[in-house]
Amino acid sequence: MVISGRNGEQLVKEAPFTLLALTRHAIEPHEEQWFSRCRADYLRSFPLSLLELVRLLVLLSLVGPMQDLKYTFAAVLGWSLVIGTQMSVRRMERKPGFDQSRALYYRAGTIRLRAIWWCTLLCWGLMVVPQANLTALTALGIALMVVDGISVLALPHLALAASSGGAFALVLASSVRSGVESTAPLAVTVLVLAAFLHWSIYNLYYMFATRRIRTRRLSQSNETVQLLLNQYDDEGSDWLYEIDENSCIHNATTRFAKASGQTVDELEGMALADLFDPGESLQTLLDKMDAKQPFRNMAVPVTILGEQHWWSVSGRPADGGGWRGFIADISANKRSEARIAFMAHYDLLTQLPNRTLFNATMARAFSRKTGDEVLGLLYIDLDHFKAINDGYGHATGDMVLAEVARRLETALRPRDMLARLGGDEFVILLPDLNSIEGAIIAAERVLEIINVPVEINGQLMPIGASIGIAYAPHNASNGDELLRAADLAMYDAKQRGRRGISVFDPEMQVQMQERRQLELDLRAAIIRGELELHYQPLVNIQSGETTGYEALLRWNHATRGMVSPVVFIPIAEETGVIVEIGEWVLRTALAEAAKWPDQLTVAVNLSPAQMHDANLLAVVMNALAHNGIVPDRLELEITESLMMQDSPEVLSLLHKLRSIGVRIALDDFGTGYSSLNYLRSFPFDKIKIDRCFINELANREDCQAIVRSVIALANDLNMTTTAEGVELNEQLEKLKMDGCDQVQGFYFSRALPASELHYGEIKGLPAPAEREAARLSAASRLQKSLNPAQKRRAAG
Ligand code: C2E
Ligand code: CA
Ligand code: CA
Repeated sequence: MVISGRNGEQLVKEAPFTLLALTRHAIEPHEEQWFSRCRADYLRSFPLSLLELVRLLVLLSLVGPMQDLKYTFAAVLGWSLVIGTQMSVRRMERKPGFDQSRALYYRAGTIRLRAIWWCTLLCWGLMVVPQANLTALTALGIALMVVDGISVLALPHLALAASSGGAFALVLASSVRSGVESTAPLAVTVLVLAAFLHWSIYNLYYMFATRRIRTRRLSQSNETVQLLLNQYDDEGSDWLYEIDENSCIHNATTRFAKASGQTVDELEGMALADLFDPGESLQTLLDKMDAKQPFRNMAVPVTILGEQHWWSVSGRPADGGGWRGFIADISANKRSEARIAFMAHYDLLTQLPNRTLFNATMARAFSRKTGDEVLGLLYIDLDHFKAINDGYGHATGDMVLAEVARRLETALRPRDMLARLGGDEFVILLPDLNSIEGAIIAAERVLEIINVPVEINGQLMPIGASIGIAYAPHNASNGDELLRAADLAMYDAKQRGRRGISVFDPEMQVQMQERRQLELDLRAAIIRGELELHYQPLVNIQSGETTGYEALLRWNHATRGMVSPVVFIPIAEETGVIVEIGEWVLRTALAEAAKWPDQLTVAVNLSPAQMHDANLLAVVMNALAHNGIVPDRLELEITESLMMQDSPEVLSLLHKLRSIGVRIALDDFGTGYSSLNYLRSFPFDKIKIDRCFINELANREDCQAIVRSVIALANDLNMTTTAEGVELNEQLEKLKMDGCDQVQGFYFSRALPASELHYGEIKGLPAPAEREAARLSAASRLQKSLNPAQKRRAAG
């Protein structure tokens, strides 16, 4: 059988009898010493010497000291022996380092000695006591039976034996003195008393032992808890707090004080509520405390030394009416939470609302919109931003974006909302417009402030924007539609030559769909063989002879018929198919040129995307070698927009191409801006003056002036000039006078299919054998300059 305590600890060991079980305890071996000391302490707590003296004096006075001298002598002798032993045990116990379990052993010895002395003396006394004192002595015997039992109950078996000894002495003496029959009542009384004593001593002993064991266990666990709490307070990231029934801080720890930026003394007695910042969170906390409800992890703001912190407070009511719990500083969490929340809705670079927040705001604007309110949306896309990013690096690109965001903010009315959708795209939502014109005025203001070049690290960077405008309810019934409409309008503005504003028109939607279809068709066009090249002659202005041809791409669409390159080249560029198409153009044009007389050059247009293709150089060399074309017969036409990117990689590629003998022409000169700079940045072989100047040459003075100065500059820089789009004799004559070298235009011929070219009629052709020899030597020269990979491709 096992008896367990309230807290589940095992207090009593298994034993066959219930009462006996009460005397056995579940004490760890290391606790034996301690428990012995407890028992010895109990025994010591009784004034035994005094009890012995009283016992002796009462006994002698009842028996009469002079009645029986032998008896008196034996009593005093026995008493001195008992007292002497007790005193020597006491002295022994006081010695430092004395083994307490031995003390108990000696104490048991003195108790046995006392029991023998007393039982003998009682028995003897009852036989010699005068009849008048017999009852009194019997009563003394009975009383001391109880006292002896209780006073040594820390040794329960001995206590029982001692009191049973007294009982035995009483019964024995009575039966000798008055006969067995008349002893019966006394014997029964004494027996009942002994049985009762047995029961009480064992139960009292059980209480004595368990109380001590429990107290010990409790204080041990208290110590552990205290230790853990101290450690927690020293090392943990949280700290404990305690407040009294008046909600004032009590027992403030140093950690608590440190965390709150105060001293322990300042904290002590301070109202908890005074510590925190007033507000909703604090009120909720106080309400919980008022309702005596335990709470966990309640975030409450607190200002410490002027800085805002967040504490997470947990607590439960304590026994004395106050509260106890712990606090953790969660400011770092709160800060990252806030940052995450910010990042979810704002763009970190410009600090502007992002697409998510913008969409939500726009949805709200739509849901609140009254019947006649007009909502406007400006979709702003920066022009040439990619060139800035590629040319100056992303850090500079970021600075430009931040600057643009800052400028755009200045253009807003209080209720307008500006957001960055991503990349170089911004939107401005214009709620409650008075009129549709309001949005156009706003867009013009935006263009004006964006068109001012941005200065970054002393460098002026020209920027511009294309803006699309859409309105609700006219163009859209919800936010998504409005955004799509404005985007289409922006796209239209881009198409119509940047730095412009377009207002949404349902036709744009149709165009967009058409464009999508073209995109799909274009991918298939190469495979289906729908692309072909036409060739437009380049004519020497002085001799009127054809010196070469420019290869111009044509798309013979299965259902649409001829699609202009002006339409599909931008699509090919945007989708990246231009790289594949460009390679086809190069190979086809060179294969065609191989059939021409050797002095005829072939000009091929290159898109900027092709210049970023790592394979371009190999493709060019390959195609030249494969067709046995001398490199200086090939002219590559690049545009100003490529030069605007100012990319070292592009420049290096251009130099490499030029170093193998390929000629580089700057196409559409004059359509970009600050173009004269580009002439100096690379030693072009040729400048092609854009058609727009030639068109107006006859009527406009300024065009004449520009053309003249470009030709002069080109001469200075040792570059040839070609005038594009010559349609009239007048134009030709003017160009001749200005010193232009070459002309191209409908005046001479449109671009024609290869089969319709009349190059065979050109004067001064070398003999066919000479031509073939020149072709072969050019081919072998190029083959030698190819690396193994390039050779493999050339062979393929
Ligand atoms: P571009 O390189 O400036 O080509 C000259 C354009 O002017 C050609 O238009 C040509 O037909 C046109 N043209 C020539 N003379 C006259 C004239 O007297 N009057 C008028 N009104 N136009 C004239 P096309 O063939 O429509 O090509 C347009 C543009 O498409 C080209 O302009 C070029 O930028 C691009 N392109 C054409 N083929 C290719 C190609 O293979 N690759 C690349 N990347 N772009 C190409
Ligand atoms: Ca061209
Ligand atoms: Ca051109």
